[in-house]
This record gives sequence, structure tokens and C-alpha cells, in this order.
Amino acid sequence: MCSIIGYLGLNQAAPIIVKGLKRMEYRGYDSVGVATFSNNHILVRKGVGKVIEVNKAVRLDELSGTVGIGHTRWATHGMVTDTNAHPHPSSTGEIAIVHNGIIENHEELKRELEQKGYAFKSQTDSEVIANLLQYHHDETGDIKQSMTHTVSDLKGSYAFVAVFEDGTLAAARFHEPLIIGIGKEGYFISSDVLGFVEHTDEVIYLDNREFVIINTTGIQIFDFNINPVRHQITKVSKEFADVYKGEYAHFTLKEISEQPTTILNAGNNTKLELDLATDLIRHAKTLYITGSGTSYNAALVAKFLFSKYAKIKIEPIISSEVHFSHDVFEQQSILIALSQSGESADVLEAVNIAKKTGTKIISIVNIMTSSLVHLSSISIGLGCGPEIGVAATKSFTAQLAILYKIADKICNGSTGIDFAKASEAIKKILSDDSKIKEIAKKIRDVSDIYILGRGIHYPIASEASLKLKELTYIHAEGLPGGELKHGPLALMDSNTYVIMINPSDPTYSDTLTSAREIKARGAKVIGVSDKPSDVYDYWIEIPQIDESMYPLVEIIPIQLLAYYAAVEKDTDPDYPRNLAKSVTVK
Ligand code: GLU
Repeated sequence: MCSIIGYLGLNQAAPIIVKGLKRMEYRGYDSVGVATFSNNHILVRKGVGKVIEVNKAVRLDELSGTVGIGHTRWATHGMVTDTNAHPHPSSTGEIAIVHNGIIENHEELKRELEQKGYAFKSQTDSEVIANLLQYHHDETGDIKQSMTHTVSDLKGSYAFVAVFEDGTLAAARFHEPLIIGIGKEGYFISSDVLGFVEHTDEVIYLDNREFVIINTTGIQIFDFNINPVRHQITKVSKEFADVYKGEYAHFTLKEISEQPTTILNAGNNTKLELDLATDLIRHAKTLYITGSGTSYNAALVAKFLFSKYAKIKIEPIISSEVHFSHDVFEQQSILIALSQSGESADVLEAVNIAKKTGTKIISIVNIMTSSLVHLSSISIGLGCGPEIGVAATKSFTAQLAILYKIADKICNGSTGIDFAKASEAIKKILSDDSKIKEIAKKIRDVSDIYILGRGIHYPIASEASLKLKELTYIHAEGLPGGELKHGPLALMDSNTYVIMINPSDPTYSDTLTSAREIKARGAKVIGVSDKPSDVYDYWIEIPQIDESMYPLVEIIPIQLLAYYAAVEKDTDPDYPRNLAKSVTVK
């Protein structure tokens, strides 16, 4: 969930680590810390807050030493406090660790270690790794042995990096990502290439159940049974270097603005895989699609797209629910798994459950080196470049674009989708957002917003509500239009705002009727439509296009609305509170 980074090289470690942490902050960030090895000692500084704030308060980047580790924490065990922030030193202070994930058996390990005389300061599960390494190091006097013994004691999911008092770095990977960077002036180890991509594009992807030892003589990789492992060095794609906001105030705005291009590029880096996947889907006996959050909303769109155009039935399942949907997968099913990062723990669990029944996995994913890709028979790349804003924007429309491409191939091009036209329509919306900015000012202080859409527009309403929640912290709810009179109408009064997703298609007149019913109860109505109406208090105009393309286009003004309302409310649109980009814990 969080980010970890280690550095060993010719330069001062702390400034490099702090810069890397800033780049990865989007992954999870309630507290931050750095430890370095200097003059035969391990020095630790840490605190609660953003990297920039904590650095200002305790000058993380002024720690001396050419070896170090760093962490941004997204708390799972223990409150958000300075003491619970990582790195955690062992009780003797000879080892310090940073950890990403959850140690499930931490309580029993802690009890055993306390009985052996090792002391604990924090309430985290992670601290147990530091003392476990210390214990095994005290027993064996050897770093390799202490690593293998430690990983065999741990249960749960983890990637951790440890710095030892002789200046060695050691790191292990078990169900959390860990990538080694090989630079001209040093080695890096991190949960994300963004942590070090400005220093090197040469990387080694550690596999699950592997650990690495890094010192001034080089790096050695082993599996958990201490068999040496050799890996190819791969070059990461240049697009990862493109992680600057440029002229934009926030990554979220930059990413929203990239969508005229990203919908055109979606899947283009994996055209062959797209064809193979389409073939499998066309002949599937039973078809499922899974995702979490925004990806699940894309899965709901797929249900409508596939039944309307491809005449294929597909069942969407929320990834975290798969575990509780008893024996849902039949033999020889196909499961389409959607994830931006490819590391979402819920999606990976769903995929693993499906695979046990012989279900084939097709993934649609942005990070092509992720765990999800390793678990899939076929992976189609979103190709939308790094998405730093925690709230998904361009990855959502890239997912939709790929699902459209599949549906269109199955029905031999008769969906009516024309990506060039959809791209032009999005450009038009982006080119004049002054009205949206005005409406953002109106909604900044409201407590509830409802978003209504019928048919294929309901999943878009659901995604719209997610954007509003994530970016503005306003309670927002997406509803299928017809459900209004079966309950939610009771909530409508003059303090309520309702967004109607109402393009010219067969849902138009029913949705307009719902708008009138809402208006009659005094609520304010915002219409997202290509046609004006007297019922709208505010009209957000979208261009008139073929009806098949509206879902891809109508989400854009709502992403903008959520973004500008967040700016109005002075919340940080890139890093919403309590959330993280890559949810690698359950
Ligand atoms: N479970 C650890 C903690 O709560 C690490 C969480 C994380 O991955 O940031 O400190």
C-alpha cells in the first residue's frame, strides 16, 4: 500500500530517498521516514504528514550516509503516530526496516520475541520484522541466514527492506511488489519504478519468494530456500519518466486532460493480445468480469456493451466479493480482470480463486509488469501512461475504450463507435470548462449529491459518485433513474443537488421525467446532456455524437466537476485523505 525505497551507492542516500518518496507518495501517505547507515550507526528520522512537511520539520534529507531506506506509510496496524511511522529499528538499533503489507502472525511472533528479551516500541505489525531479523542475526551472525529464517517465520504479505549495521541492504518480496534499479552510481530497491526512474531505467523485477542482498561488492538474489537466482535486467519504458505535472496545477487535471489521446492509444501496445482475447471471449462458455472501485464500474459498463452490441452475457463481480460467492466459476469459464496497477489485493485474490477452477484469465491492466499480468493467460495494456492521481480518471476511459474495442470486434464493427470522434468530443468539453468551474463553486458546500442515469449510463453515474466522494468528500450516490421513486425520492429537498446523465438516446425521455419529479421536490438539477431543457437549473453541455459513444464522453465533465470542487474546497485532488492508489492490502 505504501512505498518503500532503499539506496546504496556513491552519493548521499537521504536526498535521493526523499525525492523518490515524493514521486511515490500517491501510493499511500499518512507518515514518512528515512534511515541511513553512517559511521557504523543507523540513524532514523520520521514523522506524521506528507513528505514535504515531515522533511521540513525533521530534515529527513540531511541524514548523512550513502546507504539508506525510506517509507511512506498507509497505516493498517496501529494509529497514525510518529512512533508507528517506519523505519522501525530492532530493539538493539543494529537493524532498521521498512515494510509494505501486513504481517498476519505478528502478535504471536512479538510474544515469542519479547520472551527472548527483544523490546517493542510501536503498535505496528511491521516492527516484528526488525526484531526477528535481529534475533536470527544474533543467532547465526549471517545476513543471508537471518533473511531466510525470518521469511520462513513470517505469515501475511510483505515487501521489506532492511539496513544492517555493516551497511548492507537486504530486501524480500512476498505478495507485494519490489523492483531493483541498477544505476551507474548505485543500486535502488523500491515498490515502484517511479521511486528511482530518474536515476536509471535498468531494472530487475524480483519474483515472489525471493530476497536480495545488496552491498558494495554487488547484488545477490536468492529464493527463500537460499538457492541463487539469476534475473535478466530489463529496461523500463520511457513513459515512466513522464511523471511531472508540467503546466498543470495537479496530476489529476493533467490526467483528465490526456483523455483525448489515451482513449485512442488504449490497447495499441498489445494489439495481438486484444485479438486473442476477443477470440476467447467470443467462444467462452461462461464469462465473468471483475474489478474494484472504478474498475468495477468499467465492468458494469461492459455488461451493457457486450449484451447490446456483441450479444454476449457477462457477469460482473466485485473482486472482494468473489471469495464469498460460493463456487461461482464454472469449469472453462473466462474471467476478465480489470485493474490499473495490477497489484490490487482484492483483484489478485479473485483471480487466484478463479484459476483454481481452470478459469482462464484475461487482464486489462496499465502496469504490464504487475502481479496480475503474471497470473493471466492474456494481458491487454491500457497504455495510458502513469496515473498518479489517486482517483482514477484516464485509466477508466482507457478500460472502457478497450472493452469497446472488444465488443466492436465481436460484432464486426457495428457498435458505431468512432474513437476519433469520441476524442474530438472530449477535446471540446475540455476546451471550455468555465461553466463546470461555476457549478463547482455551487456544490462545494452541499452535503449530498445524487447522480442518476439509466441503462448504460447507470455505471457512469456510479463512477461519477465515486469521483465526487474521492475528490470532494461530499456524500454522493449513483442511482439507476427508475429507482428514484422506490425510495431515494424521499431524500429530495431544496438542499439536494442531482446530476442527471441524459444524452440523446433511448433513455432520454425517461430520465427527463425523473428530473421533473426531482425538480418538483425543490432539488437542484444539473443536466449533463447534448440538449438543453427548462428542467435543468444548470446545463453541462456535451457534444452530440453517436449514441454508442456517450458513456466514454459523459464522464469527463463530471471528473472535471469533482476536480474543481476539490480545488474550491481546498482538499488535495491528487492525494485524497485515507486513500491510496494501489490497494495491495485486503
Ligand atoms: N502494516 C504496516 C503498518 O501499518 C505497513 C503498512 C503499509 O504498507 O504502509 O505500519
